[in-house]
Amino acid sequence: MDTIDLHTHSTFSDGTFTPLQLVKYAEEKGLKAFAITDHDTTEGIKEAKSIETNVEVISGVEISTRYDKKEIHIVGLYVNENDADLNKQLKYYREKRVTRNFEILEKLNSLGVDITIDDVKESCTGDVISRAHIAKALVSKGFVGSYTEAFDRYLGDNKCAYVPRETLNYEESMELITKAGGVPVLAHPLYKMSDTNLENMMVKLRQKGLKAVEVYYSTHSNSDTQHVMAMANRVGLIYSGGSDFHGATKPKIDMGTGMGKLAVPYEILEKIRGERNG
Ligand code: AMP
Ligand code: MN
Ligand code: MN
Ligand code: MN
Repeated sequence: MDTIDLHTHSTFSDGTFTPLQLVKYAEEKGLKAFAITDHDTTEGIKEAKSIETNVEVISGVEISTRYDKKEIHIVGLYVNENDADLNKQLKYYREKRVTRNFEILEKLNSLGVDITIDDVKESCTGDVISRAHIAKALVSKGFVGSYTEAFDRYLGDNKCAYVPRETLNYEESMELITKAGGVPVLAHPLYKMSDTNLENMMVKLRQKGLKAVEVYYSTHSNSDTQHVMAMANRVGLIYSGGSDFHGATKPKIDMGTGMGKLAVPYEILEKIRGERNG
């Protein structure tokens, strides 16, 4: 069976493979197509597309959004990476992230935790600095005993050094993706909520332009996949799927095969292509 991977990250966000290395690795893995879907940026796509290859390289993006105060991720497939409006919006939210990191560090410093942005950058492989990197720096500087403790004591939602992040809402993100010629996909859909709420969310997202849902995903069991497929069928969404490959950032997850059992069939891509531009 021909297989694909519609969810991967490069060094332009928090992955450890450059876009060129991703293309080479997709070839090595025998994938027929893969999408580069960095967090809140399309900047790595040009590099991935600059090389001759038999693998279809799909332009994508993964946008962090809000739904009912919860963070949910929307992947856009086949977006035009040169779309001015999309790139302007993504840049605005990336810059907000930088300000927010300094606010978190200020809070930590005022609590007597003497940590700087340079300490944080040391644990950062990609271009996006998140709470994950601040947590790693807190561990390596000895302020906490573990990564989990960094979140439990300081960085977790509503803990003493927490600063909320400004993001797009789900309607805006899907509109941006659609206007940039892309197909909006609900990423890793098993969010922490009841099945009823999840299905209701999919219905609402579909009304605002959602087209597909990641039924195939690295951490899904076979029954998770069946469960999400049934939900997608009821709601009227088509299937997508990918590993969420990050290289060494998530060492248990491999491109294409996820945690060993993942296999995303090439056939689903035909339907996704059919959803482009309306
Ligand atoms: P950010 O995008 O800066 O809000 O940071 C999100 C990152 O922090 C993600 O990589 C999460 O895996 C990680 N993260 C968020 N909350 C927790 C938590 N309570 N425990 C462990 N990791 C967390
Ligand atoms: Mn990531
Ligand atoms: Mn995600
Ligand atoms: Mn991802």
